[in-house]
Amino acid sequence: MQTAAKTLLRFDLHTHTRASDGLLSPGELVALARRHELAGIAVTDHDTVDGLEEALAAGEEEDYPVVPGVELTTDYGRFEVHILAYFIDHRHPELRARLAEVAAGRLARAEEMVAKLNALGYPLSWEAVKARANGPYIGRPHLVRALVETGIIPPEKADDFFRAYLVPGAPAYVPHKELATEEAVRLALAAGGVPVLAHPGRMGNPAVLPELVALGLVGLETDYPLHSPQEAAFYRRLALAYGLVPTGGSDFHGDPAGPSLGRATCGRESVLALVRRARGAVARAFPAKLHIPAEYWE
Ligand code: AMP
Ligand code: MN
Ligand code: MN
Ligand code: MN
Repeated sequence: MQTAAKTLLRFDLHTHTRASDGLLSPGELVALARRHELAGIAVTDHDTVDGLEEALAAGEEEDYPVVPGVELTTDYGRFEVHILAYFIDHRHPELRARLAEVAAGRLARAEEMVAKLNALGYPLSWEAVKARANGPYIGRPHLVRALVETGIIPPEKADDFFRAYLVPGAPAYVPHKELATEEAVRLALAAGGVPVLAHPGRMGNPAVLPELVALGLVGLETDYPLHSPQEAAFYRRLALAYGLVPTGGSDFHGDPAGPSLGRATCGRESVLALVRRARGAVARAFPAKLHIPAEYWE
């Protein structure tokens, strides 16, 4: 459990719910964030906004600040780049239409990966995988959970299995057919929000940052559980150099084996800097949720 001193006035801007591959419902996640005494969270499920209605309603009910977000899986040439979009209008028609297409692609991809595992001798059923996805997002974690929960592999082997079969280049991996990074940035802006580059330390090649800035990137996730203090400091310097808002989040999935909620955070100044760079009504309405009168943040 985080102490209040550590988390009070801190925001965790990277979390997942059952709408993608997290284990908690959006309502449970918001309740947990309150208990941790975080000042607020962003809900950023992979490639879906389906958890946001419930998360925002829980926030309203409890007078607790919840930033609507999404973590978009994107292709940038040889790299998989994750774009966090914050303060989006989750009802935006173009965003929803593209996410529906991405979901259809994910479904076909997951079926292909199941077929590959079957051919490799793992009797995983498609029904068992599908039953573990709660929303339109379906991904590799659902395959691994189904393998474990139907007794095909022991739980302690799940990580090894993932690395042996389900990473790029491994025998059961099928690549995403997802948004181009450029389109993800454009969609985030079109939906009134701001695009932020997720976990640059996990990206493979942060040297593409100037190109992403040219596409309209607004922020950089400098503080992340897998970033060392030296890396976080380096990314903060990069953020400053490129005029990007430094952000932080835990990538909490509700999994006790993964990072805990609030493990990486950012301050209110980052949240308000994102608000100032966003164009939409969702961002404009947000500072009131922090009980800051308009004259102090405009
Ligand atoms: P997908 O959307 O199918 O590409 O699956 C990506 C998700 O798998 C990520 O969001 C992580 O939650 C999870 N993941 C990625 N790499 C690993 C790994 N090496 N072991 C376990 N889970 C992983
Ligand atoms: Mn995930
Ligand atoms: Mn990610
Ligand atoms: Mn994530």
